[in-house]
Amino acid sequence: MNVRGLAALSKNGPLTPYTFTRRELRPNDIALEIKFAGICHSDIHQVKEEWGGALFPMVPGHEISGVVSAVGSAVTKFAVGDLAGVGVFIDSCRDCANCANGLEQYCENGMTPTYNGFERDGVTPTMGGYSDGYVVDENYAVRIPRNLDLAAVAPLLCAGITLYSPLKHWRTGPGKKVAIMGLGGLGHMGVKFAHALGAEVTVLSHSPVKESDARNLGADHFVVTTDPDQLKTVKRKFDLILDTVSAEHDINEYLSLLATDGTLVVIGLPGVPFALHAGSLLSGRRSMAGSMIGGIAETQEMLDFCGEKEIVSEIELISADYVNKAYERTVKSDVRFRFVIDIATI
Ligand code: NAP
Ligand code: ZN
Ligand code: ZN
Repeated sequence: MNVRGLAALSKNGPLTPYTFTRRELRPNDIALEIKFAGICHSDIHQVKEEWGGALFPMVPGHEISGVVSAVGSAVTKFAVGDLAGVGVFIDSCRDCANCANGLEQYCENGMTPTYNGFERDGVTPTMGGYSDGYVVDENYAVRIPRNLDLAAVAPLLCAGITLYSPLKHWRTGPGKKVAIMGLGGLGHMGVKFAHALGAEVTVLSHSPVKESDARNLGADHFVVTTDPDQLKTVKRKFDLILDTVSAEHDINEYLSLLATDGTLVVIGLPGVPFALHAGSLLSGRRSMAGSMIGGIAETQEMLDFCGEKEIVSEIELISADYVNKAYERTVKSDVRFRFVIDIATI
């Protein structure tokens, strides 16, 4: 299959038009005509090689929504014309305990990333969703509810599930005090979900201008993290803090905001280690944890929940020629709240 996309040809390189091929359909594959792709901060980290090990040319994109355009001979879950999505991974070993338990994202043998990795054959590079087509095993695609806007659904495939999964795991609901650190693509989905689940939601942000947006998204409180007086008012307050900050920050300052037995879940991946003081955890039996996206079944559950509650991402829909500018603006925390590429413009 011939595909038109956008690729970075080298580290830090601008995204430029790029043509490549994808495999012909195997019996369990579907072909997806991609309509929209979200720009996740992880795309930017990888194009800049901030996590190491980047493969070029790189076609980023793991927040993918589109229409099924063909199905392999053994496909049972999808038909041509269905709406489908692809997230951060497109395969896993299907054999380990985590795969068996619907935790494919934690596959003990490594999940296959949607781009910037290799297929399970170990040699075929994977290319992502800033492109007009994808070929994927039907077991690694999810159904998109028809009542939702397809462009605004795309970010749910990474930003959405990445916040939904820890909120469910740490049993968010009425009576829980939840803080979301960083009101970007991930964070704004965290506010929507935590609010929908009935929690008391606080946004911890270094951007004072985002306060009214935060409240409109469902936040009960807004704290400017660069103002020490405001931070003092929320010491020992939260049962759960979800840290989506993409840049280096002092984690001890935020751990001090946890109530006794509270948990701070690291979600953002700045690529530099934290300087953690043991005292930050000891004084209040606090926990620090991590969470990465979600499994296929949970991603489907999240999309069905979104269909029921009519939850989607807040997006700025852009054309392909704006992607490099969108990267710059995302790094400056200047996006409300996710850029989504209209793939028809590639
Ligand atoms: P994003 O849209 O750029 O949002 C990040 C937010 O972090 C910004 O909006 C900003 O929020 C805050 N921030 C940025 N720079 C800051 C600074 N210098 N000091 C303090 N706060 C700062 O990024 P995203 O797409 O949501 O991704 C967030 C992070 O999660 C990235 O590192 C990404 O790689 C990672 N990620 C992890 C997973 C996972 O599975 N764990 C999945 C996807 C992405 P305010 O303006 O409100 O302060
Ligand atoms: Zn992502
Ligand atoms: Zn596995």
